[in-house]
Amino acid sequence: MTVRTRIAPSPTGDPHVGTAYIALFNLCFARQHKGQFILRIEDTDQVRSTPESEKAILDSMRWVGLEWDEGPDVGGDFGPYRQSERMDIYKKYVDELLEKGHAFHCFRTPAELDQLREEKRAKGEMPGFKLENPALPAEEVERRIAAGESYVVRMKVPMDGICEVKDLLRSTVEIPWEQVDMQVLLKSDGMPTYHLANVVDDHLMAITHVIRGEEWINSAPKHILLYQYFGWNEPVFCHMPLLRNPDKSKLSKRKNPTSITYYERMGFLPEAMLNYLGRMGWSMPDEREKFSLAEMIERFDIQRVSLGGPIFDVEKLKWLNGNWLREDLTPEALAERIQQWAFNKDNLMRMLPDIQKRIEVMSDIAPLASFFLSGMLDLDEASFTHKKLELAEVKKALQFGLWKLEALRVWDETAITEALTSLAEKLEIKLRDFIAPYFVAISGKSSSTPVFSAMAILGPDMTRARLRHAVTILGGVSKKETKRWEKEFKKL
Ligand code: GLU
Repeated sequence: MTVRTRIAPSPTGDPHVGTAYIALFNLCFARQHKGQFILRIEDTDQVRSTPESEKAILDSMRWVGLEWDEGPDVGGDFGPYRQSERMDIYKKYVDELLEKGHAFHCFRTPAELDQLREEKRAKGEMPGFKLENPALPAEEVERRIAAGESYVVRMKVPMDGICEVKDLLRSTVEIPWEQVDMQVLLKSDGMPTYHLANVVDDHLMAITHVIRGEEWINSAPKHILLYQYFGWNEPVFCHMPLLRNPDKSKLSKRKNPTSITYYERMGFLPEAMLNYLGRMGWSMPDEREKFSLAEMIERFDIQRVSLGGPIFDVEKLKWLNGNWLREDLTPEALAERIQQWAFNKDNLMRMLPDIQKRIEVMSDIAPLASFFLSGMLDLDEASFTHKKLELAEVKKALQFGLWKLEALRVWDETAITEALTSLAEKLEIKLRDFIAPYFVAISGKSSSTPVFSAMAILGPDMTRARLRHAVTILGGVSKKETKRWEKEFKKL
């Protein structure tokens, strides 16, 4: 048997460090067994999936040093590797489940489902969708489909008993069927859900080991059942512990930058990043902290993964990165890296047009460009003193802007300008007053090159990180305040 593992990201946002972490372990496992590692794009959520996000994920996986044997960009014998290009395949398998009586058409409206849930809750039962005999008579199904009624296809699930999930790191996990609802497999728009597409693809792509985040363990019973319904051998499951913030909560962008692009922009070395991700819940047999990907593959043993939640600590990562920078690069090599990182022509061409308008001699460039090349800026509360606004209002203007920018799908100067000028208008603050703290948060000074353009050049991750940093300097936003402000923000 050839070992085949995969990473299956959904292109719905920034490239997450958690994706690189899981990819790394899949890659090491495959390489160690002389097998193959596959990258599959799970883009069945057509509303949230974007080609920009897919590109950012592929680029950042490559940047960090991961290579896949098969994938949407490199091809392979088991393609297509993008789920949106596999729609006909899923349809066939849904029909098979319907024919075998393992799935059924469900015409219930959201209101009916809510009511059903309420009734169950009142009886003290699990609120998931679950009925003893859920399928309608065939004639009724036909009639309602012909009448154009909207429906989904759901899988049947046992009412009681226990599902035993065998996991490479946990031996067996027991999950009562009572907790598992009759999962939608085909949505009303004809798109498959993650559960169906994921199982069908893992089977058709001959995946032998499903190594993924712990958050999927509760979905495993549905997947195991689907393998049984289809009469397929199930792969070996291995659920990896989730990355955590230093306060042990699940790694979240509110507390830590989670996007790989941010770390790239900060000037971390990809080999240090990968090294640090390899230390998440895993250690070298000799416990050394610094190792390369090749060394990790050579000594890899998945059983050395420990289940206590690994802490993703940026300070620790910085320390490791410093070691790599100092110990592994000659000054010549460092010069080359710095060139690749920021002093490359593309980057200079992005920064220079705004800078050129403001210089008399070339030595004026360094102070004007320094914020483009920095990480977090050295600011304090006094930096945000405003002629017209109280500091609390400044903080609110920044936080609301941050929310606006977090929702932006396209990151360019026009979109940023549109988002923030309309916000200023709605908050009834003159644009000049509104953007003053943005200059400080983004450039560290009260004046710089145009700030919206600077944000576009800095990119979404660094921009948001600096705005978040500014909000923190101004005292942060308490839970209570967040609730109140979120309400206000929604009404705008
Ligand atoms: N598309 C899922 C994700 O984004 C994949 C989960 C899995 O590996 O099964 O995490």
